[in-house]
Amino acid sequence: MGIVENKAKSALHKLKRRSLPYKYDLNVYRGCSHGCKYCYAESSHKYLTKKNFNKDIYVKSNISDILEKELSSPNWNNEIINIGGVCDSYQNIEKDYQLMREILKLMIKYKNPVIISTKSNLILRDLDLIDKLANLTYVNIAMCITSSNSNVSKRVEPGASLPKERYKALCEISKSKAFTGFHLMPILPFLADDKDSLETLVKWASQAKADYMLTGMLYLTGGIKKRYLSFIKDTYPEYLESYSTLYPKGGANKDYKSKIHNFLKSMRNKYNVNNSYSIFLPKN
Ligand code: SF4
Repeated sequence: MGIVENKAKSALHKLKRRSLPYKYDLNVYRGCSHGCKYCYAESSHKYLTKKNFNKDIYVKSNISDILEKELSSPNWNNEIINIGGVCDSYQNIEKDYQLMREILKLMIKYKNPVIISTKSNLILRDLDLIDKLANLTYVNIAMCITSSNSNVSKRVEPGASLPKERYKALCEISKSKAFTGFHLMPILPFLADDKDSLETLVKWASQAKADYMLTGMLYLTGGIKKRYLSFIKDTYPEYLESYSTLYPKGGANKDYKSKIHNFLKSMRNKYNVNNSYSIFLPKN
C-alpha cells in the first residue's frame, strides 16, 4: 500500500446535494482499502498523482488542527457533519493513525452532531467517545452490511470486516446513546439477493436493535459498470449473462426492483424494523 501524508487546506466540505440530511462532510483519508467492487467513490482519485483508489491512501495529517479552527469559528453553526462520504474512516490505516479519535474528541469539545457509516468493527475502539458525544448531541452510526455470507463478502468487499463482525459491532454500538442504522446497500443481485439472505439481514437489523434500516439497489453507472462486470466475469462467470440482462442500463429493471422492494417491506414488517432515519434527526 502507498501512504501519502499531506496537509489539507480545509476539513469541512459543503455539499451541493440538498436531498441529504446533512450539508457538510468530512473525509479524514482519500482512497479506501476496503476495495468494494461496486465502489462509487473511486472517481474522487481522478485528480491525484497516485491513482489506485484502494492502494494509494492519502492521509490528511493536519486534519484535527484545521477542523478545530473551523469548528471554533463564529460562523460555524453546529451543523450535522457526515464523516466519511468518499472513504471509510475506519479502514485499516486508521489503526495506526487514530485520526478518528482526535476528530471525535473535537466533536465532543464543540458538541457537534455527526453521522458516521462504516464497514469496519474498528469503530468499537472509539465507542467510549461515541457514547460521550451521543450524550451531548445527535450521533448516528450506521453499519453497512450487504451480505451475511463471509465468502461473498471476502470477494466483494475484501478489506472490510466480515459480516458477522460488523453485525456484532452494531449490537455493541446499539448499547450506547447513539442512534444506529443498518445499511443494506447495495443489494447484490444473484450473490446475496435470495429470500434467505435478505431475511437474515433484516433479522440481524432487528436483533442488533438498530433504530432503522436503509436498503438500496446496486447501480452500475459510468466506470462502475465496466469494473464490476469485469469482477463478475472473473469471479462469478456463471452470473455474467444474468447481470447483462438485468442491467440493460445503469439500473436494474423495474420488475426486479419491485420484487425486492416488496419482499424487504414484508420482512421489515415481520421483524418490526423501521425504514426511516428522519424521525431521529434533530429538529432545528
Ligand atoms: S467502503 Fe465505500 S469508499 Fe470504501 S471501497 Fe467500499 S464503497 Fe468505496
